[in-house]
Amino acid sequence: MNCLSVLQYAVEILKIKHIIVCGHYGCGGIKAALENQPHGLIDNWLRHIRDIHQRRSNELLHLSTAEEKINRLCELNVIEQVKNVGNTTIVQEAWRRCQTVTIHGWIYAISDGLLKDLDACVSSVADLAKIESL
Ligand SMILES: [Zn+2]
Repeated sequence: MNCLSVLQYAVEILKIKHIIVCGHYGCGGIKAALENQPHGLIDNWLRHIRDIHQRRSNELLHLSTAEEKINRLCELNVIEQVKNVGNTTIVQEAWRRCQTVTIHGWIYAISDGLLKDLDACVSSVADLAKIESL
């Protein structure tokens, strides 16, 4: 509700044109999601990451180190959240009104300070359909 309230205010009142979903490599939340032990309330959020992990298990299996798996899951989670933002009624309604709103999926590496664009940019329902398979 917190995030959706901010999103609604930004899109409908401020008429912002760009929404950036930004993750980071080496994320403790992603690491925790990969462990099979309870973490309390945060498990409600981690469950969604576990779902992504399950859906993409074939791809993740081919990565050799735990670090590579965690970092790829960090990227996949960003892409998934770009889809989630694009599927909110707030963004869907904005696009229906022909309001310009673009959602970008980026990831940050604390190790080198660089931002990477994950090429999961969506500006329309058609764009969203294209990244659904990512
Ligand atoms: Zn994190």
